[in-house]
Amino acid sequence: MLKNVVIVGGGTAGWMTASYLSSAFGDRVSVTVVESKRIATIGVGEATFSTVRHFFEYLGLREQDWMPHCNASYKLGIRFENWREKGHYFYHPFERLRIVDGFPMTDWWLHKKPSDRFDQDVFLMASICDAQRSPRYLDGRLFEQDYVEGREPAGTPRTTLLDQGTQFPYAYHFDAAMLAKFLTGYAKERGATQILDDVVDVVRDERGWISSVRTAEHGDVAGDLFIDCTGFRGLLINKTMEEPFISFQDTLPNDSAVALRVPVDMEERGLRPCTTATAQDAGWIWTIPLFGRIGTGYVYASDYCSPEEAERTLREFVGPESDEMEANHIRMRVGRTRNAWSGNCVAIGLACGFVEPLESTGIFFIQHGIEQLVKHFPAQGFDPALTDSYNRSMADAIDGVREFLVLHYKAAARDDNAYWRDAKTRTTPDGLQERFDQWRSKPPAADTIFPRYHGFESYSYLSILLGMGGVPMKPTPALALMDGVAADKEFQMLKDEARDLVKRLPSQYEYLAQLHR
Ligand code: FAD
Repeated sequence: MLKNVVIVGGGTAGWMTASYLSSAFGDRVSVTVVESKRIATIGVGEATFSTVRHFFEYLGLREQDWMPHCNASYKLGIRFENWREKGHYFYHPFERLRIVDGFPMTDWWLHKKPSDRFDQDVFLMASICDAQRSPRYLDGRLFEQDYVEGREPAGTPRTTLLDQGTQFPYAYHFDAAMLAKFLTGYAKERGATQILDDVVDVVRDERGWISSVRTAEHGDVAGDLFIDCTGFRGLLINKTMEEPFISFQDTLPNDSAVALRVPVDMEERGLRPCTTATAQDAGWIWTIPLFGRIGTGYVYASDYCSPEEAERTLREFVGPESDEMEANHIRMRVGRTRNAWSGNCVAIGLACGFVEPLESTGIFFIQHGIEQLVKHFPAQGFDPALTDSYNRSMADAIDGVREFLVLHYKAAARDDNAYWRDAKTRTTPDGLQERFDQWRSKPPAADTIFPRYHGFESYSYLSILLGMGGVPMKPTPALALMDGVAADKEFQMLKDEARDLVKRLPSQYEYLAQLHR
């Protein structure tokens, strides 16, 4: 078996990987993280996808163990503002659709249109987000205990995304630097070694595989398997193993971001339990409410907007208090490394691939990469079938998310400037156009979304298509032949349950203040 794993890079990807491997294999595999003191981490990446709960459960961590160390808060979904027109918003929550008489409630909504807010009519979470409620009662119970039956208490079942095949009703926001620090402690306690030094060269054997990394002050660090977590640099996978990077620029043109950290008084302002994505003239601004501060940033296309303009827009969005804050400008490498695994090198995190953070999938890709690595963990012979299968799985996850993101822009009604108009005519990834045309007549279902695993389910596609408003959708004709009595009852039940939950649940601030105490 392989004994020595060397991870280069100590950002979110590096320490998530070290923690997970230490938890999975204990001291049967030695894990070393080489992390530069000089090169900063990307410094953003604070909203997650709901499946991240499997990661913490796998590590045996309960919310109270880690959330207070990372200024973490809950995320029940994403609130999209101004994508249809200024002033409009809707939620894409982590909530499966209820099915009535064989059809999801979104189909019934198209047929009956009980109001003009589809999200309020078919999801409970839209009301909970509007009212800034916590998904947990003060005693820690989850608002819909059904979701977690058989999975609580957290920490016991060591299932992974694909085993579980389901989403939880919420994800988290957290301070990425604090999480990396917390996981550093977690991994080191379980035997991982940390070397604070720069990798200045990579030594390869006669096959071209990596035998060691040369550091500035600690000599050569040898290993059997090398994990590239060096971020957009791709020091091992791209620069050393020469795996090409496939750019998605033709379909997703946003290539830059500028970010700010905004301290706020949460008690006074409240704490919205969702990420907000507010459309702008050349992209969109994220608002991530953590416990104690907001992370915000403008993701934009440099073909349509200069860095100065973007920073100005962001500062105006935040308000005059932003004058004191230092902006972090980031150039994004959007796309994926052709093969995430090459020889004895596996890329995880930004080195592997990245799409703009519109659906918070960066950390999801990391988690998927780590879980798949454990499932495909090689013996000394490095069976090529394992490598191929791993590479397919990573490519599918990233390509699938790319399709889903392109859909956001194609479906957005907004077309008030060149950026938004060009989005409608830009290249569409293979296969998406055909599905897209089909969805106008028959709403997306599990078998007509991206064909392979990429995290998103049909309810996500339905949320985006109905919320963005640029694509007129038709109800399924069969519904006109059904009496629809059960659907009417379900709409009423959803309304009653939402009203009741908003009354009974504490505010997110109240719940978190107790947890963080
Ligand atoms: P980095 O954070 O860049 O870390 C690289 C590490 O490699 C550092 O420790 C550095 O010191 C080290 N290193 C580099 N070169 C060397 C060397 N020669 N020797 C030694 N060490 C070296 N994801 C989400 O899930 N949700 C979000 O909301 C989200 N928002 C984002 C917003 C933006 C604008 C961007 C760009 C990304 C966002 N992401 C998001 C993605 C997320 O930030 C990353 O997936 C995550 O931070 C992982 O980064 P990383 O660890 O791969 O790279």
